Amino acid sequence: MRLILFGPPGVGKGTQAKLLAVTYTIPQISTGDMLREAVGAGTALGRKAAEVMNAGQLVSDDIMIGIIRDVLQSPKCVKGFILDGFPRTVPQAEALTKLLDELHLALDSVINMEIDQESVVRRLSNRLTCKSCGTIYSLEIDKLADPARCPKCGGTLYHRDDDQPDTIRKRLAVYTQSTAPVKEYYGTRKLLKKVDASGSVEDVNRKIVAAIGRP
Ligand code: AMP
Repeated sequence: MRLILFGPPGVGKGTQAKLLAVTYTIPQISTGDMLREAVGAGTALGRKAAEVMNAGQLVSDDIMIGIIRDVLQSPKCVKGFILDGFPRTVPQAEALTKLLDELHLALDSVINMEIDQESVVRRLSNRLTCKSCGTIYSLEIDKLADPARCPKCGGTLYHRDDDQPDTIRKRLAVYTQSTAPVKEYYGTRKLLKKVDASGSVEDVNRKIVAAIGRP
């Protein structure tokens, strides 16, 4: 199973990718998580990416395509993968098509998660992530006894640096300009499946599984 979860920041790609990874026993490949790991580790990539990410801009296509090229050929992706946050530009989508062709692999579905802009801003402003296990929480929905501690693993919860109002606005503008055209790219290839992502986590998950069409 090879999937792409597509949609604006805050639509719930990360949350849904984690659930689908369990359902289909394939890994979540989040380019955002990979970049944040590099930032945390202070690598050359991390130092380069941190500034770009905090400004709400996109890391260059060359860098991102190189990262995806390596990970999709690694042993962990032999059974398939869920791409979360890639491709984010048409050149990235074109490079992915080329890479999959070279590897004689095909995509099963591109899930287009849709939501209104107001909900996105609210979700991102309320989002907390666990530093240890990566679980994503909402201050609005999840009743956290302690908003600094992960109820699952006891790890530290943090508010992402790029989830601040100015940066959120910038990221949404970048999405409209550079990422939204990727929808057409997959629409013409008949891979795009539209899902209303405004409901509860469980509700959206059911809709995505139904759209994929495989148990
Ligand atoms: P995310 O966790 O998917 O919201 O990504 C966080 C940030 O990482 C984005 O705002 C970009 O700065 C960067 N990023 C993640 N994936 C990509 C990508 N495919 N292309 C360019 N930049 C990316």
